[in-house]
Amino acid sequence: MTLRTMWRSGSLQRPAEAILVSPLRTLLVAVLLVALPVGLVAVAAAGAAEERAQAEKLAAADLAASRAAERIASIVLHLQDGLVAFAATPAIRGAVASRSPARVSAALEASHALLPEEVLRVFALDREGVLLGIEPRADTLIGQSFAFRDYFIGVSREWRPYVSDTFVTAVQGTPPAVAIAVPVLDAGGGPLGALAVAIDLERAGTVWFARLQAAFEDIYLVDDKGLVITRAGAPGADTRRDLSADPSVRAAIRGEHVRGLVPDFAAAGQMLVASAPVATSGWQLFVVASPAGLQHALAPLRSALAAVSLALIFLVLAVLVAMSFIVRGVVAQRRRLATLNADLEQAGRHKSDFLASMSHELRTPLNAILGFSQLLDEQLKERISDKQRRYLGNIHEAGSHLLSLINDVLDLSKVEAGRVELRPEKTTVHALVEPVISGMRAAADVRGVRFDTMVESGTLIIDAGRFRQILYNLLSNAVKFTPADGHVTLRVWTAGRDLHAQVADSGIGIPADRQSRIFGVFERVNEDRSDSSGTGLGLALTKRLVELQSGTVSFTSREGSGTTFDVVLPGVAPTVVEGERILVVDDDPRAVELLLAITGGLGLRAEVATTVEAALEASRRAAPIAVLLDLQLASERGEAVLRQLRACDRTRTIPIAIVSVEDDDGSARTLGADEHFTKPVDRALIAGWLGRVSLRTANPAA
Ligand code: ADP
Repeated sequence: MTLRTMWRSGSLQRPAEAILVSPLRTLLVAVLLVALPVGLVAVAAAGAAEERAQAEKLAAADLAASRAAERIASIVLHLQDGLVAFAATPAIRGAVASRSPARVSAALEASHALLPEEVLRVFALDREGVLLGIEPRADTLIGQSFAFRDYFIGVSREWRPYVSDTFVTAVQGTPPAVAIAVPVLDAGGGPLGALAVAIDLERAGTVWFARLQAAFEDIYLVDDKGLVITRAGAPGADTRRDLSADPSVRAAIRGEHVRGLVPDFAAAGQMLVASAPVATSGWQLFVVASPAGLQHALAPLRSALAAVSLALIFLVLAVLVAMSFIVRGVVAQRRRLATLNADLEQAGRHKSDFLASMSHELRTPLNAILGFSQLLDEQLKERISDKQRRYLGNIHEAGSHLLSLINDVLDLSKVEAGRVELRPEKTTVHALVEPVISGMRAAADVRGVRFDTMVESGTLIIDAGRFRQILYNLLSNAVKFTPADGHVTLRVWTAGRDLHAQVADSGIGIPADRQSRIFGVFERVNEDRSDSSGTGLGLALTKRLVELQSGTVSFTSREGSGTTFDVVLPGVAPTVVEGERILVVDDDPRAVELLLAITGGLGLRAEVATTVEAALEASRRAAPIAVLLDLQLASERGEAVLRQLRACDRTRTIPIAIVSVEDDDGSARTLGADEHFTKPVDRALIAGWLGRVSLRTANPAA
């Protein structure tokens, strides 16, 4: 089976079709081309979204950290300023100067209500660090020395305000604290003692970070040594936890801005962390967000993305599978059509065979009918009655009609089967149309129709028989459908290389609404308006014969005033071939004679060369129109001529046909031969080729 037949039979389809025809293959390709890319895009999109969300969350944490740090700094500063102002009041100054616990407690009592809720206690110490008073009251502590406490050491160092480290207060059961201590100075600026507040870190953790806690995983407030002051996630509980070893905490204390994904922050695992320093205190604030929380936040997006991807994939799969089924249907249909076509072709061949043999079978008895009816008419002319003569006439007429019908049907089926081979020969316009004119003149006379002809002279290379058939069909219709006293005109002329023929009549015309049908088979459109007989095959055959010669046939018609048919056959009129010749290269006299008969039939001169040298010499002397070249020459192989003519610029383009007993194996064509005719030669084929190349030589532009 060749590729072509495989293709025709449908066993080899276009690649896309070959895939679509199998649902499994379709599925595989769909997965590769659709599902995979969609999946990858979905994953990439999810990744990008996650990155974006992470960046946004980190930016939010950063902003929150700096805002919270500002807030804490302002709270501490506010408290400190308040204390400084309070310490400068005469009540406190006097009480501390008096060192009287009763006076101090009384002075403090009023102040406590004014302090923010995270303040645990307010207390006053003398210049040695002995507690003078405390609010809310804890009388057992009064008189005790707290000189060892960081806050006292800090404030008494230079008698300036001081924020302490975290510490656990001396009051049992109270949460961890930091203290803000300010000096109590006399009017001269000399130190009298210190006034301090202890801030409840548990409370502070809750109050200070109240709004932020919900948005983030945790918030750490860490002092300048890396110890936790308080933490939003567990206010008070983690106080004094040492984070000084944590790289992020160390970096922040060093003054760097921590911002990013931290592998293990405060031993809590991978976290998004942003830091901010709390102004003036040396404290650092860390806002911590969990990337896991981010994953969680992205989960709806992810699932939406997955759902959309899946839906898309299923949609594409469904479409492809549906297409697959459709394509299967189409392929099956095409196969059925191919089978049907083959059947039809065969039926067509059977039809043609049948028609050919039937026509033959019919023509033989028809011959007898026509012949004997004519004979009877001639021989019994005197002895039979008019009626009997009419009967004989009817037999003859019916027989003639049948014969023309058979001829037309046979011709038509031959053209349709591509079995009509054109046999172009050289002729003149006059020689071509003369027999038709004399035949039609008689028919026109019988009907009383005037017949005019205008024929210009010219040379043609044309299949004369087929052209006459065309003219005859058109003219006999014109005469047939033109009433007595009407006229029919035939014009034939050449224009350039085209042959034009025009048949005009003044007859009944063709109704406009029927004009589109007249070239159809068995179409007779004037039956109701004319008593002329016909088969309805003439124009169908005419059109096919014209098209077989690459020509066109057209008409214009007006009902009641006549019809004009125009035929154009292109490329049949050579301009000049005289003076040119065909070079026949063969050393077999009978072969030469045959070839000369063919060239002579076309009106072409010929020169004969029997050796390679003679052939080359003749070609170089004057380039021939064409060369007919035998391969088996006695002196040398004909290929030598081929090779040398093709090698030289002057002779390179001469058309060369091989005429040989050897089959065409393509080797001569490889050397540059244009055609290959196998002996015994088909005269029509060679004549056709010579006709074509001589036209080409005469009109190189063609
Ligand atoms: P028919 O054998 O009937 O002439 P044709 O195929 O030659 O068949 O023509 C088809 C039909 O076209 C004719 O039957 C006729 O009706 C119409 N026709 C063809 N030529 C002419 C014409 N010159 N004038 C009027 N009608 C025509």
